[in-house]
Formats: sequence, C-alpha cells, structure tokens
Amino acid sequence: MKILVVGGAGYIGSHVVKALMLKGHDVTVYDNLSTGQEINLFKQNCFVNGDILDYPALLSAMRGQDAVVHLAAKKAVGESMENPMLYSVNNISGSLNILNAMVECGTKYIVFSSSAAVYGMPDKSVIDENVPLNPINYYGFTKLEIEKFMGWYDRLKGIKFVALRYFNAVGYDADGDIRGKELNSQNLLPIIMEVVSGKRDKLKIFGNDYSTPDGTCIRDYIHVSDLASAHVLALEKLAQGMESQSLNLGTEKGTSVLEMVAACSSVVGHEIPVEFAPRRAGDPAVLVASANKARKLLGWSPKYSDIKDIVRTVYAIN
Ligand code: UDP
Repeated sequence: MKILVVGGAGYIGSHVVKALMLKGHDVTVYDNLSTGQEINLFKQNCFVNGDILDYPALLSAMRGQDAVVHLAAKKAVGESMENPMLYSVNNISGSLNILNAMVECGTKYIVFSSSAAVYGMPDKSVIDENVPLNPINYYGFTKLEIEKFMGWYDRLKGIKFVALRYFNAVGYDADGDIRGKELNSQNLLPIIMEVVSGKRDKLKIFGNDYSTPDGTCIRDYIHVSDLASAHVLALEKLAQGMESQSLNLGTEKGTSVLEMVAACSSVVGHEIPVEFAPRRAGDPAVLVASANKARKLLGWSPKYSDIKDIVRTVYAIN
C-alpha cells in the first residue's frame, strides 16, 4: 500500500515507519520536525517537511495515497491544560485537515494514534473499550474528539479508521535502527535514565500511599515496536474489509513505579536514588489495558514488552 505517515519522524512514528517498510509498504513521511527528528527517518523513505495546518501542502502529499497513519499531535498533558488553544489547533484542526484531504483525494483508510487518556480516571483498573470515555485533561479530550470525527467521516464519507488507544509507550528499536532519543520527555523511564546518566540527582516518586501492593502507581508499559506492529496489522485488516474500530494497546500486565525502578537498577547494575514526593494530580492508582479486542481483531500480541527488555532498549540509546 502507499501510506502517508503523518508524524513519521517522531518517537512512535519512526518505529511505525520501520515496521511498515519491512512489510514492503511504500511509505511517505510527512512531518514538520517540531518534535520529530531527521535522524529518525528510517532508511530511504520519502520525506516531506510539512505541517498538518498547511492544507495545500498536506493535500499535495495526500494525492495517490491509499492510507494514512496519523501520529502528529501535541501530547503534553500539563501543557494541554495551560494552553488548550494549541491543542485545539494542532490536534483537532490538524486532524480535520487530514480527514478533509483524505476525502478530497479519495484516500480510504486511516490508523490514528489515540490514547488511554480518553478514559480519564476510570473506576475499574483493567480497562476494556467499553469503559466510559471520560477524559480528565484537554489532551485526552482532543484524542476522543478526533475519534468521534472519524466516526462521522466513516458514516458520511466511508473513511474506515482504527483508533489505537496506547497505554504507556516505552522503549526503543531493539536493532538500533532508530537513533533519535525522544527529547524533553517527562515520562517515568526517560526520567529514570536522566538519574542514571547523572543529569538528575534522584527520581521523585509521585505518591507511595496508593492502594497498590507497594503503594506506588501501576501502569501498563508497552514497547513502541509492539505498538508499531499493531499499526501495520490495523492497516492490513482495514484493507481486507474490517470495519472501523477503537482498540486498546497494552500488555495487560501492570508494573508499579518501584518495580520499574528495580528493573532499571538490575539492568544498569547499581541502585537508583529515589525519594517519595506527593501524589501528582490526575494520576489514577492503576491503569492496565485489556487488549483482548486488538488480539482478536488484529491477531496482535506484544513481543518486546518484557520490562527488563524494555529497559535494556532505553539504556542502550542513553
Ligand atoms: N512518575 C513518577 N515520577 C516521575 C514521573 C512519573 O513517580 O518523575 C510516575 C507517575 O506518577 C505514574 C507513572 O510514573 O504513576 C507513569 O508516569 P508517566 O508520566 O510516565 O505516564 P502516565 O501514566 O502519566 O501517562
């Protein structure tokens, strides 16, 4: 298939591009390099330096494409609460430009990077796709709105979509083909790696009084190469006639912050200094995916998401 990967120079996008190219798809990356990096472009793929807010440029890149993978978005939760306008424009208007360009060019399929943030603070700890959609931050709201827009574009214009709701994306390409380290990440593993490299003194653990076995929050960490393979399968299933879907992507296993610290200590071979800090606003105690729907509909299963394996791939790039 001819596939336009919007945001293909970014952290997750670059892994998706690699997975698509290894399956023989004809990939064009469309990215404004605001957070994406040229070093991430996998091998000889065709690259357009463009913005999703530049409709004429987007339209010209869209012509002749069979499908789109859309990963271009602002994704900092805190920033989305302080500057919702940025998220309205980039995430919502930008995505509408993509859908409109698809209609204009007759492009039929889209795989969209959504997020577990669409669920908000669910009262269940194992999340399937039937859990009420109740985002508690503006970032999650934008992801949910785009899923709804895609639903309408399916009904009205026959565009078929898969929205992939990522749980905690972590890790790097195990073969070392993708070399761009994600910049300025505020997520747990990148921060632990900053402690390992001496850039920070210690890890602040946000809360040790949660109702979990060790008191720290539990999350479902999924390797980015496992996310990538789901995008390939989703596109292939859409092309074979699968109906539009929203699917969780996670390992269905929870890891606490302290367990992650222990895995990192064991991989790097020394203790990692930590201190307990107050809870971070908006953090649910436990968020673990049920990925049964993705397993069934896509025939997908994670292969790289053992926690120590994940940590090894992150340590290797640091
Ligand atoms: N966390 C932490 N210290 C940090 C960063 C994160 O204790 O410096 C915790 C955070 O409270 C959450 C988990 O690590 O329980 C994963 O956080 P992250 O920001 O990576 O992802 P989120 O689950 O918020 O999307």
